Amino acid sequence: MSHLRVCWVVGAPVEHSLSPVIHNAAFAALDLDWSYFAVSVPPGQAGRAVAAMRSLRLGGVSVTMPHKQDAAAAVDVLTPAAERLGAVNCLAWRGTRIEGDSTDGAGFLDSLRVDHAWDPEGTRAVVVGAGGAARAVVAALADAGAREVAVVNRSADRARAAAALAGDRGRVVGTEAVDDADLVVNATPVGMGGDGALPLDADRLGAGQVVADLVYEPLETPLLVAARARGAVPVTGIGMLVHQAAHAFRAWTGEDPPVEVMSAAVVAALSTHG
Ligand code: NAP
Repeated sequence: MSHLRVCWVVGAPVEHSLSPVIHNAAFAALDLDWSYFAVSVPPGQAGRAVAAMRSLRLGGVSVTMPHKQDAAAAVDVLTPAAERLGAVNCLAWRGTRIEGDSTDGAGFLDSLRVDHAWDPEGTRAVVVGAGGAARAVVAALADAGAREVAVVNRSADRARAAAALAGDRGRVVGTEAVDDADLVVNATPVGMGGDGALPLDADRLGAGQVVADLVYEPLETPLLVAARARGAVPVTGIGMLVHQAAHAFRAWTGEDPPVEVMSAAVVAALSTHG
């Protein structure tokens, strides 16, 4: 007899999360008796979500804004990635303990390595933005052996804190550093929602560069359109979204995630959005 396992994504707001679409498609593809729901949890209540995971024996919990830091403080144990960032996006069982992980960085690296056969080792990266997503990307690129991880951000103090995650390979720069970068990452919301805005001067982009946008709505952002037109390789935010979920799926179920099914589900869901 199989037993239904339930997973949540907790956030505020959480109604627009694509995580239920991604995970429920994966559970169905593997014929698992698991189900995933979006649960609105008010700011400041992350600890209650962690307690609910324990009392309800949830199969796993995804954590989104604004709970990523508070949830990190409420779990039993953190992975090294989560400890370094002080934030979690995935709660999973380790025996009787709840472990908090941050799978965004690993998901981003997979989007480069798995989807584009491109390895950041030895390369120069410029990350635009210094928020939670940028911090995960900076740390992951440093761990992956990038030669330099440079951060561009409008607030200097956050830029310095993000660059510090890359140790002596991290530095704070202006957008002119994009000229010499192998990899350019937009980790700001600029370009979201079809307003046509660019996070940097597109004339700095060129052939031989990989340009990744973490924004995935629209799928082809103004930055990626500009990158493609200048001969750079565009990388959409869908890859990171799907691969970070794939890491969570593996941690919860112990199964190999059906990444193509997950990706198709999210692309289909996005194509029905206005
Ligand atoms: P966040 O923590 O709020 O950080 C936002 C960053 O963008 C900050 O560095 C902020 O600069 C900068 N920023 C915001 N508006 C800007 C503007 N108009 N001009 C210049 N800089 C601006 O957000 P986050 O969680 O890191 O998310 C950033 C983006 O990544 C969002 O669009 C999110 O949807 C996307 N994301 C995608 C994935 C994925 O799987 N593809 C995963 C996570 C996030 P200041 O520091 O100066 O405020």
